[in-house]
Amino acid sequence: MDPTALLINKVLFPAWVVKNASTRLSYATEFERTQFWSADAIRELQWRQFRRLLQHAFDHCAFYRRTLAAAGIEPGDIRSLDDIHRLPTVTKQEIQESLDDLIADNVATPLLKDMTGGSTGSPMVFYYDEDRLDSRNAAAIRHNRWTGWDIGDKMGVLWGSPRDLAEPPSMTARVRDWILDRCVVAFDASSIDDERMRAFHTRLHTHRPQFLLAYANTLALFARFVQREGLRPHRPRAIICSGEVLTDESRALIESTFGCRVFNRYGSREFSVIASECSHHEGMHVNAENLWVEVVTGGTPSVDTEGEIIVTDLKNLAMPLIRYRTRDVGVLKPSRCACGRGLPLMDLKGGRVTDFLVAITGEKVSGIVLATYAITGVPGIRQVQFVQSRRDCVTARVVRGSAWSDDSARTLLARIRTFLGASMTIQLAFVEDIPFEASGKYRFSISTVAAS
Ligand SMILES: [Zn+2]
Repeated sequence: MDPTALLINKVLFPAWVVKNASTRLSYATEFERTQFWSADAIRELQWRQFRRLLQHAFDHCAFYRRTLAAAGIEPGDIRSLDDIHRLPTVTKQEIQESLDDLIADNVATPLLKDMTGGSTGSPMVFYYDEDRLDSRNAAAIRHNRWTGWDIGDKMGVLWGSPRDLAEPPSMTARVRDWILDRCVVAFDASSIDDERMRAFHTRLHTHRPQFLLAYANTLALFARFVQREGLRPHRPRAIICSGEVLTDESRALIESTFGCRVFNRYGSREFSVIASECSHHEGMHVNAENLWVEVVTGGTPSVDTEGEIIVTDLKNLAMPLIRYRTRDVGVLKPSRCACGRGLPLMDLKGGRVTDFLVAITGEKVSGIVLATYAITGVPGIRQVQFVQSRRDCVTARVVRGSAWSDDSARTLLARIRTFLGASMTIQLAFVEDIPFEASGKYRFSISTVAAS
C-alpha cells in the first residue's frame, strides 16, 4: 500500500477527527453497518427520523406551519412513510423566497451557508449545521468506498473551478484538504483545449491517482482526445462520474479508454450523495439513512415508473427540506441488489444535460461549470439557460425573480465573461419560463457552435 495513504488513513485523518471533534468517522462507521440492514429495518430507521423531522419543522419553522395549515395537515396525520406523499412539496423558488421562515428558530450552533448554482438552472441558498456536514461527508466516504477507494487514496478530479468567486485557500485549508481528499491532480472543466488536455494527461502519469472523480461529459471529451492522439492512457482502479447525466455511450467510451469501471453517482449540492452504484452496477443505491427519496408520477408515489425525484433530508434540522422538488427525473427499482445491501435502488433518467460552450479563445467550457459557478449567488435569478449559436455571441435566457436588479445583470454578465472571455457578446433575454423537454431533461446550455 502507498505509505502516504496509510499515514493519512491510520494517523492523520483520525487525528483531524479528534482535533475537530468531528463525527465524520463515527457516522461513516455507522453507515457501513446500516447499509446491510434489511430493507424493512432501513425503512424503520427512515420513519423514526422523518417523524422527528416533521414535528421539529412544524414546531420551529414558520414556513412548514404555514404550508401544513394550508394543506389541512398536522404532523400527527402522517402515520407512516406511506403517508408522506400527502405533505406538500417545496420548490427552489419557494425556498428562495421564504429562506428566513425555513431556518429553525431554535438553532443554537453556527450555521454553514451553502449555495447551489442550480444544475437545473435555478440557484438557491441553504443552510445546515456542522453535524450535518459530517454526516454528509461520511455518506460520501461510504459511497466512495464501494469503488475500492479508501481515505488517503490518491484522487484525480475533472471538475469545475470557482475562479474568482473564492479567496485562494490558506495553507491550513490546503493541508486539511490534502488530509481529507488527497486530490493529487485536477483538471479545470471550465477551460478545455488540446494543450491543457495534453498537460493533464502528463500529470496523470506523474501523479498516478488510483481514482478519478469527473463530470461525465468532460471525461468523455478527454477520453476522445486520448484516443484521437494515440496516447497511452493512465489506468486508475475506478472512476466516479457525477454532476450530469452519464449516457451509455459515454460510459462505454470512458471504460474502454481507461480500462476500469465507471461508478455512476447522482448527487446535488443540497444533499451531497443521493444515490450511487456499488460494484454490481445494478442501479444506484439510495443514501437512505440520510435521505427519503420518492419518485412521483402524476402526483402519486411510484416504483418502477419514471417520475420526478423528490428528496427529504432526514438529518438537516437547521433548515428542514421536506419533499424538495429536484426537477430531476428517475425511477425507483423494485429489485434488490446482489451485493446484499438493503439500500433501495434507483436510476436517473433525465435531469441536467449540458453542451460545452466555446470561449472567445476557443477553449471549451463545461456547461455544468457555468451552472455551478456563473449564476451562484446572483440575486433574482429564478432560472437560466445559455444558448450559443455563434462563436462570439451567447444568449443568457433568464427567468427573473423578485430580487432581480440592474446589479444582478451586471454581476451575471461579469461572471459569464470570466469564463467565456471579456470580448464575448452576451445578450440577456428575459423569458417567462424555460420548459423541461418531454424526456425530463433540462438543457442548461445549448451550443450549435463546433469547437475547434
Ligand atoms: Zn449493490
